[in-house]
Amino acid sequence: GAPLVRHVHVDAGYDAIVDWGGLERLPGYLQQLQLPSRVFIVTDSNIHDIYIPSITKNLIAAGFEPHIYILPAGEGSKSQQQLFALYDWLLELHAERREALIALGGGVVGDLVGFVAATYLRGVPLIQIPTSLLAQVDSAIGGKTGINHPRGKNLIGSFYHPRLVLADPSTLLSLPERSRTEGWAEIVKYGIILDAELFALLEANAGALRAFSPPPVALLCQIIARCIDLKVVVIEEDEREQGRRAILNYGHTFGHALENVSGYGEWLHGEAVSIGMVVAATLAQESGLFAASAVERQNHLLAALGLPIEYAGTVHAQDILAAMQLDKKVVGKRVRWILPRQIGEVISMPLPDELVERVILTFMG
Ligand code: NAD
Ligand code: ZN
Repeated sequence: GAPLVRHVHVDAGYDAIVDWGGLERLPGYLQQLQLPSRVFIVTDSNIHDIYIPSITKNLIAAGFEPHIYILPAGEGSKSQQQLFALYDWLLELHAERREALIALGGGVVGDLVGFVAATYLRGVPLIQIPTSLLAQVDSAIGGKTGINHPRGKNLIGSFYHPRLVLADPSTLLSLPERSRTEGWAEIVKYGIILDAELFALLEANAGALRAFSPPPVALLCQIIARCIDLKVVVIEEDEREQGRRAILNYGHTFGHALENVSGYGEWLHGEAVSIGMVVAATLAQESGLFAASAVERQNHLLAALGLPIEYAGTVHAQDILAAMQLDKKVVGKRVRWILPRQIGEVISMPLPDELVERVILTFMG
């Protein structure tokens, strides 16, 4: 069958490894990095009980000295208070510059701990162990770290690369279904923007992926590694071709606005992005770029994976339109839309306000 371990090399000088059950092999991965024996593991309250006992046992057996910090689960932990609480903890333990910080969790833990690693003593080794589907295919890759400010999300942060990303898809077995489902949105996004083959693979297996019982082990490893590979390629291209990274925002112009206007929490990020991709594909169709049949294929796949493709809520279209104007992707006051031309290919362009308003008003009913 297909391999259950896959390595993606990142030019910045580290590997992203997808390894089903790889958490059990963490001591060996750490040994390869030749780190000091003390390691500082930060996780959240949901993940701690499930994974920390066996990780701790294995690390101690291999001669490591793990120290554990448990954050409250949820976006609220990407805060100044938790950032400084982590600095206090590390200082208390006299953590040194060569000793590694390990982020075990979803994007919240990864972003916060990544920023701690970037800034504590001007930078210490970082290991990312993403445990949510979204973190495995997206947030753990690319080196963006940071916290929220009371005035907005991700306003404080830095680029900082880990020494290793270890994605163990078996951790998804404990992830709540709604969190797992939202992860498919980013994966469908990669298919639309870059990879028609990935898109077809998702279409052919949507039922098994959605059901997740039994977990489609080899397929999942293949899909996660492919997404990591695609994100890495886009980011590496961006260093040469300024702005290439923007294609990763497909579905996010409307999606971010929906999240903003409805207050974070009503829609999970992936759910908002799913609806955002429906809107962007419709705009592409209305602009004569994207075939109606292709819009249909996209929306059908999103729905088959359990994602929302229709807007149901109380937010006003006018508020969404206003929120999009404030989005950071606005260049010279005009939103640049990421629009598909075919499955696997997108372009970036501004659109006439009248068209955007008409499509969004119609879509939101
Ligand atoms: P999250 O970290 O809050 O995880 C979602 C929920 O699942 C949490 O309740 C968590 O405790 C739980 N969980 C995670 N893994 C689990 C597991 N294996 N078993 C049981 N429960 C588990 O959220 P997320 O969706 O992973 O990440 C969202 C964050 O990522 C946001 O803060 C967003 O800004 C950030 N993000 C960053 C980047 C980037 O490039 N750095 C990209 C996208 C998103
Ligand atoms: Zn996203």
